[in-house]
Amino acid sequence: INTYDVNAIRADFPILSRTVYGKPLVYLDNAASAQKPLSVIEAESRVYKEEYANVHRGLHYLSGAATDAFEASREAVKSFINARSIKEVIYTRGTTEAINLVAQTWGRAFLKQGDEIIVSVLEHHSNIVPWQLLAQEKGLVLKVAPIDDEGNFLLDEFEKLLSPKTKLVALTYMSNALGTIVPIKAVIDRAHAVGAKVLIDAAQAITHMPVDVQALGCDFLAFSGHKLYGPTGIGILYGREELLEAMPPWQGGGEMIRTVSFSGTTYADLPAKFEAGTPAIAQAIALKAAIDYVTTLGLDTIAAHERELLDYGVERLSHVPGLTIVGRARERASIISFAMDCAHPHDIGTVIDQAGVAVRAGHHCAQPLMERLCLPATARASFALYNTKAEIDVMAEALDKVVKMFAR
Ligand code: PMP
Repeated sequence: INTYDVNAIRADFPILSRTVYGKPLVYLDNAASAQKPLSVIEAESRVYKEEYANVHRGLHYLSGAATDAFEASREAVKSFINARSIKEVIYTRGTTEAINLVAQTWGRAFLKQGDEIIVSVLEHHSNIVPWQLLAQEKGLVLKVAPIDDEGNFLLDEFEKLLSPKTKLVALTYMSNALGTIVPIKAVIDRAHAVGAKVLIDAAQAITHMPVDVQALGCDFLAFSGHKLYGPTGIGILYGREELLEAMPPWQGGGEMIRTVSFSGTTYADLPAKFEAGTPAIAQAIALKAAIDYVTTLGLDTIAAHERELLDYGVERLSHVPGLTIVGRARERASIISFAMDCAHPHDIGTVIDQAGVAVRAGHHCAQPLMERLCLPATARASFALYNTKAEIDVMAEALDKVVKMFAR
């Protein structure tokens, strides 16, 4: 029996029933941002209709209700990633802001000239540039862990880069461009063995597998709500409590203080210390609805469905003449990056868009990775919990059309 009722699941996502150019939408750009179930849309809209007020401030009823919902969502995040305490769960605008927060507080306070940071060639720009900025400011050395031609992360080569000078390893758990899953537990254990801290970019991983920060033993972990079927404008920084306690605040303003005086200001306890200003209230509250949605389905169940889609997609696309799949790592999930002999990825994207198929074409905010692969760009189909094999067929047929149009 098929217990995964993908049609029932699709009915939860209003946008999936729309058409584009008169054709059913085939949305395969989930690694960029995922669509939202009605429960998330309604949770966000319910805040504005029924319980909207600023949080943590007013003595009045609505402010209390909004604060309770805002904090209930933080509790949900805590359980979802198995953090020890809500003090370890910081709301940010997204993965990018979470990484910049760590670079500009922990990094500025604790790193000094000559210290080393290791990233990998798989990284999204948001896990490269914050470290480059910090390296320029402080005279740090940025080292880059390599991959092989298939996109596998090379654990042995990574290990060779570690030394007592390594203070931070900042790595993606899953590549947004190739789908490669990094053996993150082994990375963390090896990094800790030389005394380095580890930050995990879980922007992609968080939607495709269960993530348990205590089981991983990571020091920091970042993800975005919008890729997890939740709202934009909200994300999470997880940090180990003792590290967050030791870090200076980042942005100054309301919410993050205890007392302010011109003779000196004291800061709020965690997590408020890192949450200056009015937060994304409705978005944070609706993030809980997204977590509830994926938790009810089960991340292992979602992963199994997406595995089927990946296998089917790889098989189906291998019959398209002149198409090469870029990135065939042994451990990977939910993403097929590809190139075609006959057409540039932008042309591929534009032509299949006419068939209603949404894919990403470009460097995927991973220019160093494209350089490593000697490619200017790829086309990328990325699968979510609501995609179907029939949609992959529509994409494959549209790609056949690309061959007919461009191949001579
Ligand atoms: N890291 C990875 C691996 C990503 O895929 C993304 C989003 N494409 C980011 C970081 C940045 O996330 P955001 O834009 O939501 O801050």
